[in-house]
Amino acid sequence: MFELISLPYGAKDLEPVISAQTLSFHHGKHLQAYVDNLNKLLPGSGLSEDLSLEEIVCKANPAGGASANQAVFNNAGQILNHNLYFTQFCKGGKALEDGAFKAQIVRQWGGVEAFQAEFVAKGVGLFGSGWVWLSRDANGSLVITQEAGASNPVVRGLKPLLTFDVWEHAYYLDYQNRRAAHLDALWQILDWSVIEKRYK
Ligand code: MN
Repeated sequence: MFELISLPYGAKDLEPVISAQTLSFHHGKHLQAYVDNLNKLLPGSGLSEDLSLEEIVCKANPAGGASANQAVFNNAGQILNHNLYFTQFCKGGKALEDGAFKAQIVRQWGGVEAFQAEFVAKGVGLFGSGWVWLSRDANGSLVITQEAGASNPVVRGLKPLLTFDVWEHAYYLDYQNRRAAHLDALWQILDWSVIEKRYK
C-alpha cells in the first residue's frame, strides 16, 4: 500500500505563496485521491506494490512501458511528482549555496537568475496541465523538460531534481489564471538544499 506523505512544514508556513487552503486541498484531497486510486488499481495490473514509484511509472508508461497502463501511470506519476514537489519547500525558502550544483547551473545558463527565467517561461508555456522539471542526466548535465499530465522525467532516463506544478489545482484558489505570478513566487519558498542533495 502506498501512503500519503506527511508535509515537512505547517499548514500556514508557505503563505502567502501557497495558502493553507490551497495546501489543504492539494495535499489532503488531490494527492490523497491519487494514492487511493493507485492502491485500488495495482491489484490485477501485473505491477507489484513492492516496486518503487519510479519503477511503476516507467513500466506503466503508455509510450512503451513493459506493462503499459494509462490509469496506473497517471496515478503513480502524480504521487511521484507531488512527493518531489511538496518536499522541496520550506518556510521562507533556503538559498542556493556555492558548490558543484550551483556551478553547473552557472556553466549552462550563465547565472541562477537566467536559469530561473527559463524555468518559469517553460512552465508558463506548457499548454494545459503538467509539470516543468529540472533534471540531471547520467553525465551530470542539467536539463529542463515540460511533462504533460502526470509524466515525470524518469521516463526519459533522467533524474528529477526540481519541479513546479502547473496544474490549475496548484494555484487557482490563490492566483486564479495568473500562472506566471504563481511560478515566480515559488522561488521564495524553495529549499535549494533539497535540490542540491538530489543532484548529488
Ligand atoms: Mn498538483
